[in-house]
Amino acid sequence: PAKQIYAAQLPAGLQTISNIIAVSSCKGGVGKSTVAVNLAYTLAGMGARVGIFDADVYGPSLPTMVSPENRLLEMNPEKKTIIPTEYMGVKMVSFGFAGQGRAIMRGPMVSGVINQLLTTTEWGELDYLVIDMPPGTGDIQLTLCQVVPLTAAVIVTTPQKLAFIDVAKGVRMFSKLKVPCVAVVENMCHFDADGKRFYPFGRGSGAQVVEQFGIPHLFDLPIRPTLSASGDSGIPEVVADPQGEVADIFQNLGVCV
Ligand code: ADP
Repeated sequence: PAKQIYAAQLPAGLQTISNIIAVSSCKGGVGKSTVAVNLAYTLAGMGARVGIFDADVYGPSLPTMVSPENRLLEMNPEKKTIIPTEYMGVKMVSFGFAGQGRAIMRGPMVSGVINQLLTTTEWGELDYLVIDMPPGTGDIQLTLCQVVPLTAAVIVTTPQKLAFIDVAKGVRMFSKLKVPCVAVVENMCHFDADGKRFYPFGRGSGAQVVEQFGIPHLFDLPIRPTLSASGDSGIPEVVADPQGEVADIFQNLGVCV
């Protein structure tokens, strides 16, 4: 019921968005931003109108992962709204484009900044807004999920046993908020060398998540030097190599969100 009340009071900026997808992880460094950005460009490649909102205020990755010409958000002084920047047809807003250094803020302030950035942006008509969530399942995440009517969540994790416990927390948070988790992406699950496949972090914890929580899709994303290089170069891998193995995986993920 809480969600319906919020939806009724939705800020104008969000009313023109058909689907809002949260890409979430329970700790940093597992590849959440990599998944969010490549998912967004895959959906755009499929013909959708897409935006990315980088809600990771403490460590915004979007400015590194994409290279828009205009690296500062503009304001519309009359309407007091934010005009997103754009790269290859995908609109985007990140704290990293706000022209300030990394912030030292307490949780409630962070929530305020995130909500303001997200809800005062002139997104225009979008088929998908992909939200790169801050890592974790604390107050910041919860507030964000309550303000924004999420259509679905994608959880990114690595194959370690320890990660499983964190993922379970994420799944529970979304399920309490009645947001369906449509997929788990198990990132950095293997690499190939000398004709053999290696699983440096072990196997099986993704399958356990899917089984235990009834999440319909599990995707394995391999360790790929090009994925890390493209993240640093500002051109997402699915754009740089649209016929590659990674693009293929994201096509499948794109279909299920
Ligand atoms: P998070 O958003 O969870 O903090 P990032 O997406 O920023 O994680 O990824 C952390 C680092 O790991 C980045 O430098 C990224 O390019 C790299 N990375 C992520 N996934 C892979 C992968 N499958 N193979 C190689 N490098 C990866």
